[in-house]
Amino acid sequence: MTTNIQGSVVFMGGDADPDIIRGRKVAIFGYGSQGHGHALNLKESGVDVRVALRKGSSSRRKATDAGLSVMEPVPASAWADVLMFLVPDTEQYKLYQEIKHNITPGKALAFAHGFNIHYGRIVPTEGVDVIMVAPKGPGHLVRELYMTGGGVPMLIAVAQDASGHAQELALSYADAIGGTKAGVIVTDFRQETETDLFGEQNVLCGGLVQMVQMGYDVLVDAGYSPVMAYFEVCHELKLIVDLIFREGPAGMLYSISDTAKWGCLSNGPMVTDSMLEGMLISLQRIQNGEFARGWITESETGRVVYTTRLEEAKDHPMEQVGRELRALMPFINAGHQKLADASGG
Ligand code: NAD
Ligand code: MG
Repeated sequence: MTTNIQGSVVFMGGDADPDIIRGRKVAIFGYGSQGHGHALNLKESGVDVRVALRKGSSSRRKATDAGLSVMEPVPASAWADVLMFLVPDTEQYKLYQEIKHNITPGKALAFAHGFNIHYGRIVPTEGVDVIMVAPKGPGHLVRELYMTGGGVPMLIAVAQDASGHAQELALSYADAIGGTKAGVIVTDFRQETETDLFGEQNVLCGGLVQMVQMGYDVLVDAGYSPVMAYFEVCHELKLIVDLIFREGPAGMLYSISDTAKWGCLSNGPMVTDSMLEGMLISLQRIQNGEFARGWITESETGRVVYTTRLEEAKDHPMEQVGRELRALMPFINAGHQKLADASGG
């Protein structure tokens, strides 16, 4: 049942033809967060799928243990007629160079993020369909929700429609990994790439992690107990986010006390006012390609800043407090595989 919400076409279950993707040979390049979710969901949806990994890849064992067939990238690219690129964005150009002789007319090249196509790093040959199936959620949830009968919302887009049926193929693929359970939204590579980068830099990951750590530091530096600080600004976050997830910010506001509402409405804008400039700069850098160029350079020069900052985040004092507190609440992770055990990183 296709719907149109505020100008966006949204496909649901029943709109997709599951036989399209079942009639193709799909190679999933990479077995990380998205790779393991796509490969396992496709397999269980009756699709002929292989995981393509480099010789000696540490993910090979995880994929074969999960019952998947693994091939090396070059033979996999010769075998497949749908090639889904789920190696890190910075590595996709090298992979493309290695296998492009096998990406022949009639095949489809697929992405879960528009980065390399939108910023012109990969320029596919004519005659090839170029599609996107981008889950709007982490790969581990793509897998977990599929197993419990749900799905993550997904975006589909077509950058090159050589066959004249590229969108139907993308929709069929999205359906097979659970997308039509939640809604498959039609977009284009530019909108997906720019909004995805903006969201993760400013709100979902960048903004949120900084805010949580800053809130924790302010409380602990002012002499409050680390345990109290962790519960207040980290643990409780999920409870609030769950309400926002269910009924939006206004629904969450309904559930909190009048005092919390007033504090939120009177103090909130003061905190976020100073964030606006950063968000606008970030958007500009995304739109003019500066962020993409900088990230590729950082990656090609040994990821020094990246590694240092990642280590700093892992070493933040709240991580230790969190580990100790979560150990008291084993139900938090009951039924969930440890994230790093499910996929390669
Ligand atoms: P990841 O870092 O979790 O995993 C990448 C996998 O690629 C590794 O596990 C490994 O198997 C392989 N790999 C790593 N380095 C490689 C190299 N140099 N050459 C070949 N193979 C290599 O990746 P991910 O986060 O799943 O991202 C894959 C794609 O999906 C990206 O385009 C990303 O933007 C997109 N995406 C990711 C998420 C997410 O939840 N992480 C969400 C939406 C879209
Ligand atoms: Mg992203």
